This record gives sequence, C-alpha cells and structure tokens, in this order.
Amino acid sequence: MTADTVPCKICGAATADFGAVDFNRNCLENQGIKLPSADRPIPYRRCTQCGYLFTRAFDAWEPADYQREIYNDDYLVIDPDYAGARAIASAGVVESIFGAYKANWSILDYGGGSGVLAAELLRRGFHAASTYDPFNPLFSELPKTRFDLVCCFETLEHVPDPLATIGRIASLVSPTGMVVFSTLVQPKEVDLDWWYLAPRNGHIGMFTAVALARAWAPHGFELLSWNDNLHAARRMAAPAPLPAAAAEPPLNRQQRRAAPRGRKPVPRAPRPVEAIFAEALHHHQSGRIAEAERLYREVLATSPQHADSLHLLGVAAHQAGRNGEAADLIGQAIAINANVAVYHYNLGSVRMENRQLNGAVACYRRALQLMPDYPEAQFHLVGLLKALERPDEALVLP
Ligand SMILES: [Zn+2]
Repeated sequence: MTADTVPCKICGAATADFGAVDFNRNCLENQGIKLPSADRPIPYRRCTQCGYLFTRAFDAWEPADYQREIYNDDYLVIDPDYAGARAIASAGVVESIFGAYKANWSILDYGGGSGVLAAELLRRGFHAASTYDPFNPLFSELPKTRFDLVCCFETLEHVPDPLATIGRIASLVSPTGMVVFSTLVQPKEVDLDWWYLAPRNGHIGMFTAVALARAWAPHGFELLSWNDNLHAARRMAAPAPLPAAAAEPPLNRQQRRAAPRGRKPVPRAPRPVEAIFAEALHHHQSGRIAEAERLYREVLATSPQHADSLHLLGVAAHQAGRNGEAADLIGQAIAINANVAVYHYNLGSVRMENRQLNGAVACYRRALQLMPDYPEAQFHLVGLLKALERPDEALVLP
C-alpha cells in the first residue's frame, strides 16, 4: 500500500497527507509546557470524506510499547489531570446526567485507568460501577456481562483501531443501555497547530462529528453531543417504540378452501379493526411503511377515534419526512388520549426535526411525567436543554 492509498480507519475513503508533528508535541504547549524535540516526526493523515485525522505510527505497538513510550512516569507532566482530577470531574458529569438511575443502573468505566471514576461513582451512591482498562493489570479482564451505562472518557482519541474499540464498547452495552463518552472533535478549520494534535499525549486519532456518527452507526447507535467534547451514544429506536405485534389469526378451513390456488389466501369476511391494526403494525415494524400507512387509514375509515392508528400514522409520516402532517396526526392522537407517554415522546421527535426545540422540551417533559423511567425521553431532554443552554434544568430531571 502506498501512502496515497491509505484508507480512512473509520470510513475506508481516501486520505490525504496532513503533515507531521514531533513525537514530543503535547497538549499543554500553549500553557508553556514544552518538551525538547524528540527528533521523531509523526505523520498524520486526514480522511477526505469523514475528516478523521489520524496517524498509523503506533499501529504496530504492543501495550508494553505504549507504557514505555507514552504512559510512562513523564505522562503526568503533560497530562496532570490524568492522576484523578479528571475522573472526579467526570463522575460529577455522570451524576448530573444519570443521577436518577443510581439505584438501578450498572456502570462500566471503559479505559478507566486506575479505577478512580468507578470508585467515585460508588462513593456518590451509584450501586454498581466497575472498571475495564487494558493497560492496567488490575482491570484488564474484559467483563462478561453487559451494562446499563458505559463511560468512556478521553479514550477514543488514544486507540489505534477505533472501530474495534467502539465495537467492543457497543458489545458491553445492554440492549436498552447507553454510552457516555468524551473526545474533542475537530474545529471547522483544523491545521497542524491544533493543540489537541499531540502524539506525546497518545492522541492517535481525532474525530469529526461525521466520523463519530460513521463509527457508531454500524453498531446501531445514534449520537447526541452536548458540546464538542461530551457525547452520548444509544441504540437507535426501532421505527418507533411500538407495542408487540399481534399475530394474524390463521385462516379456518373454509377460508383456506375459498382461497384461490397458488395465491395468498384472502379472508372474505370484513376483519375487525384490531386485526387490521395488528397487520399494519407488523408491516410498520418490518419497514413496509406505505403498506402500514394504507392499513392505518383503513382502521381510521371505520374508527376515526383509533388513537394508536393516528399516532402511528403520524410516526410513519415522520419517517417519510412529512413532519407537518406527522405533528398534526400525533396531536390528534393526544387529543383523544393525552396519557400515553410514547405519543408525547414521538411528538417531541417530530418537533425536534421541525426545529421547534422548546415545543420538543415540553413533549419530553410530559412523556417523563407519564413514565418517569423513560431513558430515551430523558436522553433527548437532557441534550435539548444543553443545546438550549439551560443546563441547570437539565441537572434536575425529570
Ligand atoms: Zn473517513
């Protein structure tokens, strides 16, 4: 492979030479902490598609090489917060966002060094918090269970194979769990002088928002960023949080006999509304949106007050990008039954896409009032309040 054909570690697209910095370049140089040149240029490349900025200089290193060259006794000189201050601050962040789940959630700190963050979370009353870190023999065994929350602070920029790391993190998250992580994304205009581009700190790969989304999507995770550094990932919801589909009733012998040979049997008698709804739901969950929409309308033709059909017809419109119609339909469902949390949740998502952010906040709040243990609603509400710069409210949820 020639230098010109080095593929992006995230998306596989072509990369361009970004130039090189000395190995001893560290993050604190603009605070006056400058190490003598190591006379060892570290070349970086940047993806032409997703913008991921990375070096391959350490790809062949073993953990012992990292310990000797980077995470050695001098590391604290260029990253003094590593010893504990950052972990304590991170515990505060976790508590402020997820404090409501202290009694229930199990937490893993991935890449957690000496275990300070997990210990601090336990001290703050979280009932289960542990550490995984391949560089610390105390915590180097990969857990065999899955967790409600995986924390991964200041880690992703340090790994030579970010997709493998993200895949491993994803595999440690329970089906309804989430990830909170930090890594600084690149500024709009990035050049070799960017302070975060620092091999001595072990910064091997720096993301853009696009690169982060690309890296998590194959595992079915969507991202939410509170700012350039703090992000969360959680599994994308199915088309909508839907109730389980009811099985279609099998045809009786008479119906089977009446069915034309070689074609799908068609029941003769008009079916009850709930059977049509169940079939619509089945199509919807299988991604056949147009078919689902047709059947929801069939339900509504005989039962115009069928709130679930109005709601899911609205969800289907939302999925098809018709958000005005979606808001109208879900609003009709809420007018019929205002006490279903998922109606409010989905109206919140529609409003978010319509950029009616305050309206979306109200929806997520209502969903949480109706169903306090609703992590999806909490997830979006916290993110929205941060985006709206009302962080104080975000900290006292729901
Ligand atoms: Zn890329």
